[in-house]
Amino acid sequence: MRDERTEVLIIGAGPTGLMLAIELARRGVRFRLVERLLEPLGWDRATVVHSRTLEIFEATGAVDDFLTCGHAIRSVGFFELGARVGSLQLGGLDSRFPFDLNIPEQRTERILTARLEQLGGRVEHGIEFEQLEQTEDSVNVGLRYSDGRNLRLTASYVVGCDGYNSAVRKAVACEFEGHDYPSLWGVVDGHMAGWSHPADETAVQLEAPGVNPLPLPDGRWRIYFRAQSKGSEALDAVREGLEVLSPGAEFRDPDEPQFFHTHFRVADGYRRGRVLLAGDAAHVCSPIQGHGMNAGIQDVYNLGWKLALVVGGASSDALLDSYEAERRPVAEAIGRSGEAAETRWVEQDPVVTHKIMDRLATGNGGRAAAVGLSEIGFTYEESPIISEAMLPPRAGDAVRGQCLDGVCLGARVGDTEELQGQDGQLRLHERIAASGFTLLVLLNDTDVIAAGKELARARDVASRYGSYLQTYLVTRSAIELTDAWGEHLWDAGGALHERFGADEPALCLLRPDGHLGFRAAPPAWEALEEHLGRVLLPARVA
Ligand SMILES: Cc1cc2nc3c(=O)[nH]c(=O)nc-3n(C[C@H](O)[C@H](O)[C@H](O)COP(=O)(O)OP(=O)(O)OC[C@H]3O[C@@H](n4cnc5c(N)ncnc54)[C@H](O)[C@@H]3O)c2cc1C
Repeated sequence: MRDERTEVLIIGAGPTGLMLAIELARRGVRFRLVERLLEPLGWDRATVVHSRTLEIFEATGAVDDFLTCGHAIRSVGFFELGARVGSLQLGGLDSRFPFDLNIPEQRTERILTARLEQLGGRVEHGIEFEQLEQTEDSVNVGLRYSDGRNLRLTASYVVGCDGYNSAVRKAVACEFEGHDYPSLWGVVDGHMAGWSHPADETAVQLEAPGVNPLPLPDGRWRIYFRAQSKGSEALDAVREGLEVLSPGAEFRDPDEPQFFHTHFRVADGYRRGRVLLAGDAAHVCSPIQGHGMNAGIQDVYNLGWKLALVVGGASSDALLDSYEAERRPVAEAIGRSGEAAETRWVEQDPVVTHKIMDRLATGNGGRAAAVGLSEIGFTYEESPIISEAMLPPRAGDAVRGQCLDGVCLGARVGDTEELQGQDGQLRLHERIAASGFTLLVLLNDTDVIAAGKELARARDVASRYGSYLQTYLVTRSAIELTDAWGEHLWDAGGALHERFGADEPALCLLRPDGHLGFRAAPPAWEALEEHLGRVLLPARVA
């Protein structure tokens, strides 16, 4: 038996564990990622990657591989008795990726594993988590190799990314509250010939029993269906459904259908001391809207930078409490949304269905549905680590946790092109993809003297936070700040100012995950410092 020590021990190398490892590797944190399987599962589950997750893949340097390997979906078509009764359009989303990307989960895992290896990390296969004990400053973990040898490991933090049956969740006695859905789902992959609908559309058959065909890369298709039983007759029902949706279409060379039940459960805590839960270990929802894996990846995109700050001594351990406060409401929201969709499909109430189709056909209804599906609109409005100093105070501009326009406090900030920096034109997301906080001092139309004063204040604050805080002065006027070109962005068209609704000078602080953590208009430097002091420990990072 060997004794070893690491900062963060990640249990489980599904999409959630892999993304957390990437986030820690990007920030130079010592971690280990253990996985009980000797090789990845043969059958994959998640197919749909939403816009927000693609933005995260871009920030972590993996998006090109996804775009090369995936199949873009730009709309969802709803059909009743073969007739199109509505559609959800994704093309107008405020994202560089205004589409869903269909890609098998196995490939997602392969791309993330390759990215992790590029960053110097790796998955340790054939190691199973068994038990843990917490002390005040560490967690002692008992693991077992597939050949039966034991491994004891001491970690500052343990993150359970070990899926629905999480042994880590059980070890810390978190309840997995919620329920299971009685109806049986089936899924089968194959090829399709003669499909009459657009190749970049997912189709949903609304009447019972209902099939949902999704085009995959390489000419393959995945068909989700409501199964009456697990017998071979399921495939006949699938073919009948497809025939109604697209007469003459032929579903060929199908794999063995798989059957599954779905659930809506959320752990009653995401954190117990030094142990945290993420992904399916923390929440599961119906896969009907394809949110489970996306939410797990976004969980750890939220958690990774916080863990890095805490283990690096740049933030207090209390920062980790904001993880649950921010991510649990998202799990509950997608779970409720999946439950409503499950119920609608089972109950088949035409009045409800037509109401939804009518709403989708309106500009606002269609946009709200697209934003919800894409996951770009979630705000962390219940977070203890967001704040603002606005004069006059701004009424809550997020609607039930979703931000539809511009930027709400706590929301992910969309991209802006056509900013002029020292090295030419750039996008906002390129600037914030690095690992720290980004302070934007938005000055609108200003002169060199006023800009110089704000630059001095920004530098003063930045000097207390070292590499953790990058500041930019953003002007609409083309002034020459001779000693500050690297910190000066020229927003000639005003798109960035408009995004933040900054008609007057303002401060906007973007967190490492691209969410708006603080804003002040007019600039309130003391309020900013107070805010930063709640997230970072100035003395330690200087
Ligand atoms: C049919 C179906 C379709 C779906 N489609 C979508 C979709 O389109 N989009 C979407 O976002 N989501 C979808 N989901 C949900 C998605 O598959 C899951 O949310 C996602 O796989 C969860 O990832 P994870 O990394 O959290 O957990 P998992 O993928 O379950 O990974 C957990 C890992 O931990 C390992 N592990 C478990 N126990 C231990 C242990 N004791 N020690 C060490 N390792 C351990 C496991 O071997 C596994 O590799 C779908 C789910 C189903 C069932």
